[in-house]
This record gives sequence, C-alpha cells and structure tokens, in this order.
Amino acid sequence: MVIDVKKLKYSGKDECSFHFDAEFDDALITLPDAKFLSPVSVTGTVTIGGNTVLAEGEIEYSVGGQCSRCLDSAIFHNIVAFSEEFSDRKDADPDVYPYAKGLVDLSDMVREKIIFSMPFAIYCRDDCKGLCPVCGANLNKSQCDCNK
Ligand SMILES: [Zn+2]
Ligand SMILES: [Zn+2]
Repeated sequence: MVIDVKKLKYSGKDECSFHFDAEFDDALITLPDAKFLSPVSVTGTVTIGGNTVLAEGEIEYSVGGQCSRCLDSAIFHNIVAFSEEFSDRKDADPDVYPYAKGLVDLSDMVREKIIFSMPFAIYCRDDCKGLCPVCGANLNKSQCDCNK
C-alpha cells in the first residue's frame, strides 16, 4: 500500500486516486474465531501539499465469525472513512503519520483504522433472540418451554 508521491510530483500532478486490496492478519480481529472473508479494500485519493500529503478515502472489510448471542455464524461488514495527513518532516506533529523518500505507505494507518473500528460483538441478525439461558436452545430456530 505504497504511493509514490515523488513520481506524482515529477509528472506535474498534485493529486491521484488509489485502490488497494490487501491481506491483513486475522490476529487484528478481537472477536473469537473470526477471520477476514476477503482482502481489505482501500480506495481514496492523495493530495500533495508542501511537506505533507493528505490521504482520504474508505476502508472496506468483511469479517466472518460467531454471533455473540446465539453462536451461529455471523458476518460483519464495515466501511471506515479516513482523512489522514502524512508528513516527511522530522519535527512533524506526532498525530501525523510519517513518510520518507517520497513514498507514502498507508499500511500502518489502515491497520490502526481496522483495529479501532472492530466491534466487540457481532450478530447473525439485528433481532437475534440468542440462546435460552436455561436449556441452551437456539431461540431463533425453536421455542423452548423454559419461560412459560
Ligand atoms: Zn445470533
Ligand atoms: Zn429453554
């Protein structure tokens, strides 16, 4: 996920769009037994300023795992918007991502956005009824007699 802004500058442009499909380690996912269902998609544009580069766009990912209520399979699909500045100055603000040699690597930023956007629980459907706490029946599939 590296953008060559040096090349972009030489070509006389100060803006370009990008698209990356990248594999990320399933260890980034805090949910139990969950994994990425497809490569993470990153699209956006970079705009070159003086010593800074602004990267704006969207990160899209799908995670498959277990429903936190009924333990059935569940899919979580997320789109995370980003707008982050990169700087090649040594004294740059610590909130700004660094880049060097005219190459802006988006990997660390994307990894952080994925980690911070990961939910603590996912559900097979919005109205999942979960498991009966008494007999363990999946209440989406069958009605038990415990609560009568
Ligand atoms: Zn469920
Ligand atoms: Zn029951």
